[in-house]
Amino acid sequence: MKQYDYLIVGAGLWGSVFAHEATKRGKKCLVIDRRPHIGGNTYCESTEGINVHVYGAHIFHTNDKEIWDYVNSFVEFNRYTNSPVANYKSELYNLPFNMNTFYQLWKVRTPEEAKAKIAEQVQEAGIKNPQNLEEQAISLVGTDMYEKLIKGYTEKQWGRKATELPAFIIKRLPVRFTYDNNYFNDRYQGIPMGGYNKLTEGLLKGSELRLNVDFFQHRQELSNLAETLVYTGKIDEYFDFQFGALEYRSLRFDHQVLDTDNYQGNAVVNYTDAETPYTRILEHKHFEFGTQPKTVVTHEYPQEWTPGAEPYYPINDEKNDSLFRRYKALAERENVIFGGRLAEYRYYDMHQVIGSALKRTRVHFGEE
Ligand code: UDP
Repeated sequence: MKQYDYLIVGAGLWGSVFAHEATKRGKKCLVIDRRPHIGGNTYCESTEGINVHVYGAHIFHTNDKEIWDYVNSFVEFNRYTNSPVANYKSELYNLPFNMNTFYQLWKVRTPEEAKAKIAEQVQEAGIKNPQNLEEQAISLVGTDMYEKLIKGYTEKQWGRKATELPAFIIKRLPVRFTYDNNYFNDRYQGIPMGGYNKLTEGLLKGSELRLNVDFFQHRQELSNLAETLVYTGKIDEYFDFQFGALEYRSLRFDHQVLDTDNYQGNAVVNYTDAETPYTRILEHKHFEFGTQPKTVVTHEYPQEWTPGAEPYYPINDEKNDSLFRRYKALAERENVIFGGRLAEYRYYDMHQVIGSALKRTRVHFGEE
């Protein structure tokens, strides 16, 4: 008899959902994390009474009522709707691409005029079957919009030419012929009232938690504690990088307290030119309609991932995806549960992480 049923490596969303579901089914879980806190990249820190998204903006959205009800059962979500503003060399545009943006760019007022303008630019560019992010973007919104709002932002965000990036990345953003600035099409959207820690604290209730613990430094002794290992870290690291390292895009966050109650009037402002070194400025209080006397802003600087840096975005190009498949084949032969953004090497949104963890638990417990 081992002391725990599950050792869960990583107290982020995937690991926390698994822990909750296993605990609910009467199992005993030990959750460890190398960081000094739970919640993974959703972790928030309170500064000047404002919940600061320490690892960048996290805006919850989903179309799935089960997932929405699930997260709301731990903490109530507010009515925040994401509508970033883009700043291109001091010109301001609404995002995502919608009739407001088309008007700001071309002074077109009707959907028909906007569609005609895009069609004209797509035809001039001669793109029929988009093969990469650049071609996909131009075929969706035309060349002008691509040059001002996509090319510079994308190339600094990813540190790669837009022609070398997969098309799916830009398909995340809606293109709409209505005057609707909502960044997401999903039916449900919001921010946990009081911050994301409430969600992960709720999920981890009933599990034993050990922070500041590096799995790889005590691999054998930790693994011996539990019947089953659940691993949510980097899949290549689990296998000692034996086929080489998967690539990631990393970020550096510069958080500042400012002595004003409202710095930019919006939670997210994107800087879409190539020269500004950061991609966006966040003003955290606006995620929760804060009225504090001061404000906290974060400049987000993209950078290449190097060992020791935080891996944020998987680079799902062909080279990395095929390397991932080699690791995945090894993982399938292991008696371990792998899940989450880093173990599945997927550009996951939070609702997808939760969906993946819920599904995996049901399969694991023989319920589907
Ligand atoms: N993007 C862009 N301009 C913007 C915002 C986004 O070109 O102002 C592109 C960029 O390639 C980015 C992708 O759309 O990587 C997805 O953006 P999203 O806001 O979904 O990214 P995340 O918030 O996950 O970083």
